[in-house]
Amino acid sequence: MKNKKKYIRRLIQLAAIGWLFPPVYFLGTVWVGTYISADFLGVGLTDPLSVLEITLAGKSIWPALWLSAVPLVVLALLLGRVFCSYICPLNFLLELLPRRQERQLVRKTLPIGIAVMVLLLSLVLAVPVNNTISPVFSLLRVLLFGWGSELLLVALVLLAALVWGQKIWCRALCPLGAVYGLLGIKRRLFLQVDAKRCVRCGKCRAACSMGTYPGSGNWKESYLCTNCGDCIDACDKQAIRFTWRGRGEDALGEGK
Ligand code: SF4
Ligand code: SF4
Repeated sequence: MKNKKKYIRRLIQLAAIGWLFPPVYFLGTVWVGTYISADFLGVGLTDPLSVLEITLAGKSIWPALWLSAVPLVVLALLLGRVFCSYICPLNFLLELLPRRQERQLVRKTLPIGIAVMVLLLSLVLAVPVNNTISPVFSLLRVLLFGWGSELLLVALVLLAALVWGQKIWCRALCPLGAVYGLLGIKRRLFLQVDAKRCVRCGKCRAACSMGTYPGSGNWKESYLCTNCGDCIDACDKQAIRFTWRGRGEDALGEGK
């Protein structure tokens, strides 16, 4: 079926948003929290960037906080930035907007620079900066606690998406995605392009909303890939597939 991976992903995205709401949320037995920090079946889960900036802002190390980042760090080490493609509610909203061919950005590593800046600011201002002003977390708070001024941040990102491209926030700015991307550079689950099948038509490239080269071995491209699978759906030669690292990597990535 065409777009099979995208349909499955949409279902998971919807389930991830639904997961935040009652009754699961208010039962408090299975899940308490948000995608910033939560308790799932007694296991603490905190987004790694939040852990870093809370540590710097508070200028002390809380072992329990660091421990709660471990499951999400391991997930990113194995599967890459799947938080972006399957969980992030802002990404779900952005993908509802129309998209055209994404323009190439000169500095693909800019979000990494923003992440460093966010950490330095957290240290200087003694406030977890991304946690406070991230449109992703603003949207989470709006979803859970109702309309508020934070909606303005989300509206700005949506407006920017309409003017400069659907994923301009993710590709050019988002420090949260950058951290997951960096953690996932050597991910175990990655995209492999079969050089024998690939006719270099460019359809996969055009399908990638992150504007990256599917299957590229260049880390500046690879860290942007969210393992969403849209490029797999776009390839009518079935030349791209997910592969578990270590099981033969003899095929060419288109962007190499
Ligand atoms: S880059 Fe940021 S906004 Fe985009 S999907 Fe990832 S976490 Fe969400
Ligand atoms: S390269 Fe493919 S899997 Fe990665 S973000 Fe782009 S479309 Fe999604």
